[in-house]
Amino acid sequence: MIVVMRPTATQGEVDGVRRTVEEHGLEAFISVGEERTVIGVVGSDLESVAHLGTLEGVEQVIRISSPYKLASSEHQPERTRVRVNGVELGLGQELVVMAGPCAVESREQLMQTARAVKREGARVLRGGAFKPRTSPYAFQGLGLPALKLLHEAHDEYGLPVISEVVDPADVPAFEEHVDILQVGARNMANFVLLKAVGQSRRPVLLKRGLSATIEEWLLAAEYILSAGNPNVILCERGIRTFETATRNTLDLSAVPVLRSRTHLPIIVDPSHGTGHRALVAPMALAGAAVGADGLIIEVHPDPANARSDGDQSLSFEDFGALMDELRRLQFVRSTDAPPAPAAAPDATEEIGDVRDRIDELDARLAAMVQERASLALEVQRRRDVGAHGHDVRRERALLERAASGTDGPMTPVELTMVFDALLRASRSVQRRHAQSVTEAEAAAAGPRP
Ligand code: PEP
Ligand code: MN
Repeated sequence: MIVVMRPTATQGEVDGVRRTVEEHGLEAFISVGEERTVIGVVGSDLESVAHLGTLEGVEQVIRISSPYKLASSEHQPERTRVRVNGVELGLGQELVVMAGPCAVESREQLMQTARAVKREGARVLRGGAFKPRTSPYAFQGLGLPALKLLHEAHDEYGLPVISEVVDPADVPAFEEHVDILQVGARNMANFVLLKAVGQSRRPVLLKRGLSATIEEWLLAAEYILSAGNPNVILCERGIRTFETATRNTLDLSAVPVLRSRTHLPIIVDPSHGTGHRALVAPMALAGAAVGADGLIIEVHPDPANARSDGDQSLSFEDFGALMDELRRLQFVRSTDAPPAPAAAPDATEEIGDVRDRIDELDARLAAMVQERASLALEVQRRRDVGAHGHDVRRERALLERAASGTDGPMTPVELTMVFDALLRASRSVQRRHAQSVTEAEAAAAGPRP
């Protein structure tokens, strides 16, 4: 910390600052310049002299080190990895996607969503039980019964679950039923709650406050860390700005800024960050591209009839398409051999004969595409229908092979478009099949009492 004295400061005022510093067990290094005196303050508890700026003769106080110690990468250069039920978030780990409804509305809604998001590759299930709504008349969540449903969903689908805690008194119930405690944007500065989750053994996902600076957000994380809980995940969920086209302004620059200041894992919430379904996928991809360790996405079986945040919730299909896109962008190197070169056309052939060959090829392609879809379905049937089974490595290898096929007139980009479409169509068939199995099972189970 550096204390800059006014040019008019007297020797008595400089001595006053030095005395105050020393009374607090800190050291003062006085440097007398031609125009003014500056005093370097060194010691471990600089907070105790935060009031130096109010002393006579002081012009300004400049902090050199960050006010958050435990959260700062100065204090801990190695990046924190948060582990929860086999899922790891942080340095060197694959992007972790958390997905599920804004609010738990019923067992059916939650289980259906859990099954769908798991199938598509989500690693954590979200679901609000206590909803901090702007209006007291809006749906407030099912409360404790929703936590129990999340627990059931965890047991049924093996996904860790995350839910927002709003009352410190509820922390024990959350510890019993959920794997990650969420502190919502509206509670980022609820210091009693931060201390309570800081004493929990569960990891905490700390959302950025609606109007919080990055420093305030990191100080909120510091509350949790200093209370003894090292497993804090930061979540950028958009801040309030003058812009009204989006619900919030998703501050993606926060990700690299945080990266340079803290070792804590960072995730992005494009659902609350934008408020509009159509904007969720592009901003999710942007969040992944900017280096987030994970994403949290609202998904609902019937967004139009969701009890909260339907406008920003993705349908299962939209979520599946987003996951496909995220997978396509996850680079997995392939060592597979390149394909055999394609047969060259015969220049002496009549045009009619060439067209006949094209027709024949199209018929074969159609049959092969159908055969490929049947095989994809067979794979789907043989694995647990609720499990995510896309073989990312093989898909990536296929796309890379396509992109390296330079033996014909198609460019790598054009070839990739074809194979990309093939993979999407295949997944669409699998998804439809999974949906029909779910519906058949629900029909067989009969109506619920
Ligand atoms: C939520 O995730 O359900 C939520 C209420 O988010 P936020 O605190 O970011 O508004
Ligand atoms: Mn929500």
